[in-house]
Order: sequence, then C-alpha cells, then structure tokens
Amino acid sequence: MFYDAVEVASRDELAALQTEGLRRTVATCLASPFYRRRLGALGVGPEDFNSPLDIRKLPFTTKDDLRAGYPDGFLCQPREDFIRLHVSSGTTGAPTAVFYTANDVAAWANLVARCMHAVGLRRGDVFQNMSGYGLFTGGLGIHYGAERLGCLTVPAGAGNSKRQLKLLRDFKVDGVHIIPSYALHFGQFLRQEGVDPADLGWRFALIGAEPHTERTRRRIEEVLGLKAFNSYGLTEMNGPGVAFECAAQAGMHVWEDAYLAEIVDPQTGAPLPDGETGELVMTTLGRDGMPLLRYRTRDLTRFIPGECACGRTHRRLDRITGRTDDMIIIKGCNIFPMQIEQVLMAMPEVANNYLIELYQENDMDQIRVKVEVRDEVFAAAAPTLAGLHKRMVARLRDEVLVTPAVELVRAGSIPAAEGKAVRVEDHRLLEPA
Ligand code: AMP
Ligand code: ZN
Repeated sequence: MFYDAVEVASRDELAALQTEGLRRTVATCLASPFYRRRLGALGVGPEDFNSPLDIRKLPFTTKDDLRAGYPDGFLCQPREDFIRLHVSSGTTGAPTAVFYTANDVAAWANLVARCMHAVGLRRGDVFQNMSGYGLFTGGLGIHYGAERLGCLTVPAGAGNSKRQLKLLRDFKVDGVHIIPSYALHFGQFLRQEGVDPADLGWRFALIGAEPHTERTRRRIEEVLGLKAFNSYGLTEMNGPGVAFECAAQAGMHVWEDAYLAEIVDPQTGAPLPDGETGELVMTTLGRDGMPLLRYRTRDLTRFIPGECACGRTHRRLDRITGRTDDMIIIKGCNIFPMQIEQVLMAMPEVANNYLIELYQENDMDQIRVKVEVRDEVFAAAAPTLAGLHKRMVARLRDEVLVTPAVELVRAGSIPAAEGKAVRVEDHRLLEPA
C-alpha cells in the first residue's frame, strides 16, 4: 500500500531518523568551504545534535549565501563525484546552482517515485511529463521518479499542445506532470479541439512549480477530467518531491526522513507553533553532495495540524500562499498575488489567465488587474460586461482592501508563459522617482 515503509514510521522513529540525519549532515557539511567557516565560527559539531529541535542551534542559510558561494562553494565531495547540476529558475538576481552525486540523484528519484505512488500511479502506468526539461528540475526530476516507479515515461517537454494531445492518445497516458497555468491553457485547447477529456482516459495530474489556489485546482480537474495533486519542491532541496499530496488531497506530506522542515516568523526567524503560517525553512537530511542547513525558502505556508486519513505519519504542509518576496504593498496594504487569483478563479466568467500590473500615477503606487474573460462573456452586451466589471472590482477590493483598476480582456490575449507563469509586472521601477 505504501511505496516505502518509512512513510508510516512512528513519530518517535522519525525523530530518531532526523537526529541521525542531522548529525550526518552536519558532519558532511564540514567539508564545504562555506559551512566549514560557519560551523567552525560557532564551534559546533555533529555531537551537539541530539534531537531534531537542536537544529535551532544553527544559523539560517539564505539565497544570498548560495549566490555568494556560486557556483561551487557548497560542494562537500570531490568534484569528480558529481554527475548532475540544476540551476534555479529564480526570476530575480543571480542564479543558484545545485550539484548532485549519483547517490543524490538516486535518492531524489526515490522520493519522487514515492510521491507518484502516493497519488495512485503504479508500475506499468504510462506517464507523460509535460513540463520543460533542461535546467528546470521539473523535467529530469519528475522523469527519473517516474522511471524509478516503473512507469513508461514520455518526455514530452513543455508546450506544443497539438503534439501533447497526440502523445496522450497514442500511448494511452494514465498520468501527467503539468504546470497549473499550462494545465488551464491545455484545458481550453481541448475544448477548442472538441475533445472530451473523459475520452482521454487519463486519471492523474501532478501540478506544481508555481502557486495556485484550491479553486484553480478544481478548475484544472474539471477542464482536464482527472484528479490533480499538488506537488511542491524547489531546486535548493533537489526539486520536485519535497512535499506532495496523497490521494486524500488534504495538504502535502513533507518527507521528514529526507528533510527537516520548520516554519518560522519571516521577520524574526523565531520558530512558530504548528498551525501558524510563516516561512518554510528546510534542511536536507540525506544529501551527500551539497547538503543545506536551515535554508530559507521564502515560501509561506503552515503545518496542517492533525493526522491524515491515508495513515502516513509525515506532517502535511498547506498550500503555499505566497513568498516573502512576492508581497505587493499598495497604499499601505499588503497584497499577495494568490489573494487576487482566489477571487478571480471563483468567478465563472473568468477564463484562464490574468496579469497584475503595478504602476505609478500621481506619485502613488497603483495596481491594475488584467483579466481574461470567456469568449461568450466578452461578446455579451455592454451592460453585462459593465456589471461583471463592477462585481469584480468590489470583490477584489473586499479581499485586498485597495480598489484595483480592472481591465477585462479577451481570452488568450495575455501571452501564456512556456514555463512558470508571470503573474506580476512591476512598471514602477522603470519610472523616475
Ligand atoms: P525553482 O527552484 O526555480 O523550481 O522554484 C521553486 C519555487 O517554486 C518554490 O520555492 C515555490 O516558490 C514555487 N513552487 C514550487 N512548487 C510549488 C507549489 N506546489 N505551490 C506553490 N509554489 C510552488
Ligand atoms: Zn495523506
């Protein structure tokens, strides 16, 4: 029933595994120039870690640390032991690179296989990876996991909906990996082609790599005619396979034998109690090549208290509601793009895509939301559109507490990204202060 016995290990067993993993990881870290310096200055070694909570003796590792160590200041093994690297897709600033040994690649594939099994995929199923390959971890990361599980794996890559459809049909695909924004786009494509998604016979979609709301998930399930499961990961922690929904679809189990996850107050760094939302901080527990201690992901989420119906004991993370660095401040109000998505995706008139634009007017920061509406709505009489516009402005204002400008546009007129969707365009930086 479970892929790995450790999925249902007792909490005590998990704590013991984490302590052991933490000690081993600290010992491994001493081989990297960055951590040797840092741990040396603190005067701590493996013997100082006797419970998972002892992790708090360590300082955080930040994205800036990784950038400063770019490209290889974090490596803990001889150079010739590394067989793979990925570079984070981060849209701002310098890139960060993660290197993997053969063991790391195998362990990662195993975690991804575990996730796919939890969703319901099995050996012998056909799996199509519809996300970009290359430096992005969603390509090879998911691919190796699918092969490890024993799926016939179709490395379709991103885009080219016509070819995707042909592959889905020719090979009778059971499950796919697809980015949420492309999933909606693909749903629209199927409709245009007159394809009934039920005829495709597919059952599972793993969706992740970008934030999305529960409403968006339900929409994806509707337009694709399958079950969609939230998949969380980040390059710094390997890539996909860090936390994943099980068949219960009630939050993402974070694999606590492989990662030590904490939620901290993003301002103070103080640990937060279970159930409170804060910044996710992650430590690798089994990585040989490039272990990371208390890495600040900038992702905002919380642990979901209580046990999961599936019987797995690993704690669950709630949907990512935003990042500490994607908060928009307009007229003193803090706004996360996901709040806007939540409002829009609850309105049936709205099509798939939207774009948040920030600009300056009269020395004030302003926010405008461009929203694609369905063709039949766009073609409706002016009063219908005006009514929709008014309702949308009011609902957005109720949610974000400022009144945004709203522009309704034709479905398909906002360019869809090949990879992760770009939801916010900030034009303020371009204008003179
Ligand atoms: P990258 O390492 O470039 O693939 O980006 C990783 C980041 O993508 C994470 O830190 C999150 O901000 C975002 N991300 C990945 N998976 C999800 C998900 N399931 N839900 C929300 N955001 C996600
Ligand atoms: Zn579960």
